[in-house]
Amino acid sequence: MSDNCIFCKIVAGQIPSTRIYEDDDVLVFHDIHPVANVHFLIVPKRHVESLLTATPGDQVLLGKLLALAPQLAREQGLGEGFRTMINTGVKGGQSVFHLHLHVFGGGGKAEAAISQIMQ
Ligand code: 5GP
Ligand code: ZN
Repeated sequence: MSDNCIFCKIVAGQIPSTRIYEDDDVLVFHDIHPVANVHFLIVPKRHVESLLTATPGDQVLLGKLLALAPQLAREQGLGEGFRTMINTGVKGGQSVFHLHLHVFGGGGKAEAAISQIMQ
């Protein structure tokens, strides 16, 4: 656990969150400011700052985050498709420096804007 890390505090149960999945390695909860009708975060329980600080020893964990996305997306009603995003570093738009995979979809204003930009 890293001091003053919001996601470590969520993992520890010190800050409430809407949890949708948990196992020994990973916690998944809804984003507090969703950019789409469904938006959740897949978070390793162990504090890894970002992809920039991940090491080869994190490979299995990184694979697990991605592999969980479709299973949980289906359960959240995104069986027809979804987006994934990992913001990395200050210049990569990361605001919480505890690695996390965004999974979102199901429509909504922000998602429509992203679709337009990415066309
Ligand atoms: P980043 O910008 O680092 O890729 O994403 C951080 C995400 O964490 C943001 O989408 C933000 O809304 C979400 N977030 C920040 N603080 C909290 C919190 O206390 N609870 C939850 N559920 N999400 C949070
Ligand atoms: Zn942390």
